[in-house]
Amino acid sequence: VVVRVRAERSPGEKRVAASPESVRKLVAIGAAVEVESGAGADALVSDAAYRDAGATIIEPGTPLADGILFHVRPLTPPELAALPAGTVTIGVDDPFQHSDSVVAARDAGVTSFALDLLPRISRAQSMDVLSSQSLIAGYRLVTLAADAFGRMFGMTMTAAGTLAPARVLVLGAGVAGLQAIATAKRLGGVVSANDVRAASADEVRSVGGTFIDLDLGTADASGGYAKELAEDRARRQQELLAPHVAASDIVITTAAVPGRAAPRLVTGAMVAAMKPGSVLVDLAADSGGNIEGSVAGERRAVAVAGGIATLIGARDIQSDLSPDASKLYAMNCANFAALIVKEGELVLDFADELVAGSAVTHNGRIVSERVAAALP
Ligand code: NAD
Repeated sequence: VVVRVRAERSPGEKRVAASPESVRKLVAIGAAVEVESGAGADALVSDAAYRDAGATIIEPGTPLADGILFHVRPLTPPELAALPAGTVTIGVDDPFQHSDSVVAARDAGVTSFALDLLPRISRAQSMDVLSSQSLIAGYRLVTLAADAFGRMFGMTMTAAGTLAPARVLVLGAGVAGLQAIATAKRLGGVVSANDVRAASADEVRSVGGTFIDLDLGTADASGGYAKELAEDRARRQQELLAPHVAASDIVITTAAVPGRAAPRLVTGAMVAAMKPGSVLVDLAADSGGNIEGSVAGERRAVAVAGGIATLIGARDIQSDLSPDASKLYAMNCANFAALIVKEGELVLDFADELVAGSAVTHNGRIVSERVAAALP
């Protein structure tokens, strides 16, 4: 079977779904790997490096005869319509936000696997793009904050005096939040965090953060995810967080609830109560915003008593660390491909819960009940 790796077309997207290491893995399972020329350029992987690993380099846009297509961004309806029936796609589909692509994949007879729908079970960990890319994002949130923060991050003692450490507050302690806590700790910050899942207090402590218990009760949904808080509890959470936000130099937010707009944790009034020079970074800026006023891709000055703070809305931040993000993403894709390629042949076993759990379309049908139910 052919595995085609495309050069991503979306502006701002610097990642690629293959690395030399993942190409070697694909070759080892019997796949013939084709990489579009230049696909790895923004991830610092040359055509020659892919060729050395066993791939064939092809002109971008060369039609795919049949086989498997690896992608990073969700494919567009015209891209899907151009694929021969029976093509298998593997990547992030974000199907709840891209229903037009789901319909196009169905109509084209494409079998699409959305790695973002994989059940979060242990066997899926090596293919879990949400985890690998959240980890990169969590790290990047802190380096963005550190860059915008016009002061030292860690406590520094010198003969001329002592510089206080940055006080960092992380709201939402999933994969990205936990990585942000660990990274801020490594830079020397004093880090505290809040989340609503029952397991999160222990998880925060395990990476060196102080857990802020708001005495709100927990909000767990199935699959390890959080549940949306009812309006009164959400308002109470804001009130209880307000003094912690005001006392922080840096606020990093990563809170999300699957299928919902991101919870609003920090209001404009809470931002206005911070000290001059404070920095806020919102990972959820383009899914509703944890912080009032954050705009994805924008770094703005906001007025606080006596000066300004900086509010950053994250966008495409994995692409800021494209070589590392790509390396992990590429292995996620190759590990998934190993589930459906046996001795070089495509073998789709829908009895496997990872295959069934990530399949969106197959044989002209939408096979994911969740996705079908959410279609407009
Ligand atoms: P996510 O991106 O859906 O959400 C980020 C975090 O925001 C979550 O921790 C969530 O609890 C939190 N949150 C939601 N509403 C909030 C609120 N009002 N206030 C504060 N925080 C709020 O989460 P994720 O990073 O994808 O992780 C989801 C779960 O999946 C976690 O429990 C994680 O441990 C688990 N997980 C399991 C595996 C596995 O292989 N077993 C792999 C990865 C993740």
